[in-house]
Amino acid sequence: IIKLNDLGKSFSGNRVLHGINLEVNPSEVVVIIGPSGSGKSTLLRCCNGLEVAEEGNIEICGKPLLTNGTMLADHELNHLREQVGMVFQSFNLFPHLSVLGNVTVGPRKIQGVDKDSAESFARELLAKVGLAHKADAMPATLSGGQKQRVAIARALAMKPQVMLFDEPTSALDPELVGEVLQVMKALATEGMTMLVVTHEMGFAREVADVVVVMDHGRIVESGPPDQIFVNPREARTRSFLQAVL
Ligand code: ATP
Ligand code: MG
Repeated sequence: IIKLNDLGKSFSGNRVLHGINLEVNPSEVVVIIGPSGSGKSTLLRCCNGLEVAEEGNIEICGKPLLTNGTMLADHELNHLREQVGMVFQSFNLFPHLSVLGNVTVGPRKIQGVDKDSAESFARELLAKVGLAHKADAMPATLSGGQKQRVAIARALAMKPQVMLFDEPTSALDPELVGEVLQVMKALATEGMTMLVVTHEMGFAREVADVVVVMDHGRIVESGPPDQIFVNPREARTRSFLQAVL
């Protein structure tokens, strides 16, 4: 569903991604780990066109998003973006809209879904993230974990083919991390295709099909969790894991 080929990206001459090759197949959960500044967020943002990489190719759902460093034209880009749901560290809910409003605004405004259908699907999604009773609440009245679960429901409302998560639990108090990971785990079990940046090694070990280790803008090593956590091949993987575990 996502295919990155020889992806390279610089910020004003400073190279932050080098020759990235990565595939995320249908129903796969790929977890990216690695030190701060290693390019994890930049990589994720390239996958939905929030950043423009100037080298390489990106394919989303079989369609070219980036071809030899050239992005798709805007109108096509927007269409492709609807296939890619994204959840950030900071929840970015619309503060002036209720929970239900946050979850229905995308389908209604971007996909032209009528109010009743958008709301009934939104209620279904809110039930799934354990927040059916909060449909009419305003974001400011929610806990961080609840806000993040609304953000996940909002992304799912667009019926994406793949979900990107950039450290979805890093801004949460420790006691709220579990409820968000639980929702992500349920999504994975249902077969959602996911590319997840996280520092939650327990989640990576338990839920990932493939763990990708990044350092200094490169993929150091990737493989099933057992390989990465039990028998890492690369010294840089070992030293990173020693620092975080
Ligand atoms: P963290 O774990 O701290 O979130 P990360 O692995 O997500 O780190 P990135 O945010 O992708 O790392 O950053 C990779 C490199 O790119 C860093 O050196 C960062 O300073 C640089 N960088 C990221 N965004 C920009 C930007 N908009 N302008 C200039 N440099 C940037
Ligand atoms: Mg980051």
